[in-house]
Amino acid sequence: MRAYERLLNYVVIHTTSDEASSTVPSTKRQFDLANKLKDEMISLGIEDASVDSNCYVTGHIPASKGCESAPSIGFISHLDTSSDSSGENVHPIIHENYDGGDVELGNGLTLRAELFPHLKTLKGRTLITTDGTTLLGADDKAGIAEIMTMVEELTKNDIPHGRICIAFTPDEEIGHGAALLDLEKFGADFAYTVDGGAENEIEYENFNAAKAVFKIRGISVHPGDAKDKMVNAALIACEISSMLPSAETPAHTEGREGFFHLTDISGDVEKAEIAYIVRDHNPAFFEAREQTLLNIEKRINEKYGEGTVSLTLTEEYRNMIEKIRPHMHIVETAKRCILAQGVSPLEVPVRGGTDGARLSYRGLPCPNLGTGSYAFHGPFEHITAEGMDIATAVLCSIVKEYSKNNIRTKNASER
Ligand SMILES: [Zn+2]
Repeated sequence: MRAYERLLNYVVIHTTSDEASSTVPSTKRQFDLANKLKDEMISLGIEDASVDSNCYVTGHIPASKGCESAPSIGFISHLDTSSDSSGENVHPIIHENYDGGDVELGNGLTLRAELFPHLKTLKGRTLITTDGTTLLGADDKAGIAEIMTMVEELTKNDIPHGRICIAFTPDEEIGHGAALLDLEKFGADFAYTVDGGAENEIEYENFNAAKAVFKIRGISVHPGDAKDKMVNAALIACEISSMLPSAETPAHTEGREGFFHLTDISGDVEKAEIAYIVRDHNPAFFEAREQTLLNIEKRINEKYGEGTVSLTLTEEYRNMIEKIRPHMHIVETAKRCILAQGVSPLEVPVRGGTDGARLSYRGLPCPNLGTGSYAFHGPFEHITAEGMDIATAVLCSIVKEYSKNNIRTKNASER
């Protein structure tokens, strides 16, 4: 079975996660896909495949004969889809021998080659799109389909392999994807998330990230009698905003450039609040950004009196490169395997966080590999059957490489 055929089976199962929910998983419907995947894993020969009560699907393939000393490699994808767009009643449309031009999706939407310039490079392929009413769910059911197809290929073609550890996680789209993955039980020396992006992409850098909230206390006095008495909290919120560099916002930055992003501002004379997210790939620049905010807190309190403003800085996640760098063979091997499929590897610094970043900091170095999909989280999402074949071949090739190299990672002995 080709990977895209599996994808078509998975996307019809509604697995949207829900940020507002406090349960794990955030939506019960994610079990519908989890249970189906468990059955499929068993049918592919993964005897210990299971779904736990938190909706994590895991399974292991023991090393083939003679490869027992090869490292244990993990492959991880997520079950849920983003709530930014409906994931219910998905009707994928297959465009065989795609001409590289605009595609009428339905629902009055057109996938425009002008807006998505990579489309012309997909000419001649089998393009899979939505019907314009939902997202496609290739993020990240394409990753699941490619991992499953890799498993099938390994067995079918007797490809030598070390121990393989597989996990399909819930709730990645709401930032909880890897939180409850039992790493001891998973037992990988290192892993790859297979999640989004072109089939030649490899990602091992992401933002350092923090949230910053200034709470401001003002003094309210009748405006007619306010001279030298009133402290207007809302105006101080505006003042704080003006103290940050106006060009260092998401709308003015790209690549590895960091920013302060104002996410919320509210208030009146008596009290106000101004919230930011702070992002930077470079750890020194990131700390300098945090220091800038602390300096603003100090400066405002000096000007208007101690206790006028209080800043809460909450760190969210860190750049995984710090944890990947001691194990660069994970990245180098993947790059070689991408190249072996006749495409040039593309290294992309992620302007966000990934499950892999969180796992890397929990002790499992975990870069991300592309699945061949584009334009996630909305009705323009699309992928090609051939891109999925390449992504699957990259996974098989990685497994094969490590089976002969027998690279025991430092990480394995550390844990
Ligand atoms: Zn994803």
